[in-house]
Amino acid sequence: MDEPKIDLRGLTSADLIGFLGGLGKERFRSKQLMSWMYKKNVSDFEQMTDLSKDLRAQLEQRAYISQWQPEAEEVSSDGTRKYLFRLDDGATIETVLIPMESGRSTLCISSQVGCAMGCVFCVTGTFGLKRNLTTAEIVNQVCAVRQEHHISNIVVMGMGEPLQNLDNMVAALDIFYDAAGMDYSSRKITLSTCGLVPQMRELAQRVNVNLAVSLNASNDEVRSRLMPVNKRYPLSELIQACREFPLLGKRRITFEYILIQGVNDSIEDARRLVKLLHGVKAKVNLIPFNEHESSCYKCPDEQSINAFQSYLLQRNLVAIRRASKGQDISAACGQLKGKLERKNG
Ligand code: SF4
Repeated sequence: MDEPKIDLRGLTSADLIGFLGGLGKERFRSKQLMSWMYKKNVSDFEQMTDLSKDLRAQLEQRAYISQWQPEAEEVSSDGTRKYLFRLDDGATIETVLIPMESGRSTLCISSQVGCAMGCVFCVTGTFGLKRNLTTAEIVNQVCAVRQEHHISNIVVMGMGEPLQNLDNMVAALDIFYDAAGMDYSSRKITLSTCGLVPQMRELAQRVNVNLAVSLNASNDEVRSRLMPVNKRYPLSELIQACREFPLLGKRRITFEYILIQGVNDSIEDARRLVKLLHGVKAKVNLIPFNEHESSCYKCPDEQSINAFQSYLLQRNLVAIRRASKGQDISAACGQLKGKLERKNG
């Protein structure tokens, strides 16, 4: 029986070198392949004219390069684009392109189908975890959107907890950084975790990436209520791991703080937050809760949001208010998927 073809999209350059070595080919061919796949966006081996006819024929026989098209796309009035991709096993994931100032844009990608972490404010959390994405599935989200749009930054903040899928995530980062291919600087990529402490330490040893921590509370009682992961890795352990996380140059860890009315938005919360992050190279992203039909949580009023932010700023904690983009197109993570799944029965 023929061996199944291998998807080159999931291979790092070290993997590609190994694969090509198995075909008796030189290691520099991996650079040529990377360049065709990611710089020229070509997936048809026949078009790779600087590869020998013999190598192209071997590749045709042994490999393929997966190429995605979105199944659905919604565009918000503020320019945010939300894509839904259907995977080979029928599962779906979401990817969101967020326009920034000066023509740049950030792509928010998913790392798992669903999520096991069960954060109570998150729609994805309600689906449970179906499976990890493969390296190729992580990379293909970027490739598909890059066909139409320039992507300056990538954030791994979509569906799933990326550190629960560490091996595939590290391989995908390796592909994003490869100079012969997409050539992203590690400054341009941010990975967000809900706070899996051992995996944060492992990540720091394996790859260089900006870290964001989904914090959302200033004490264990509230955080455990919002994020069950806090029962396993309480704030003291999480913040200690943040202090130890290696940061290049002037980089800081981003702490995401979703402001929820009456839950974590008081000045007392702000005071505890300042104390908690004392001495950590931190910046805080304040995100007013994006209300949706499947949650009873509410967004605080403007006055409370401003007061919270001012309290942090006055104590020299960098605190940036993030607008919830794409509010008219199901912006919170998992909402487009939820909507389509409800529609499809
Ligand atoms: S917020 Fe992130 S970690 Fe928490 S349930 Fe949602 S996708 Fe998972």
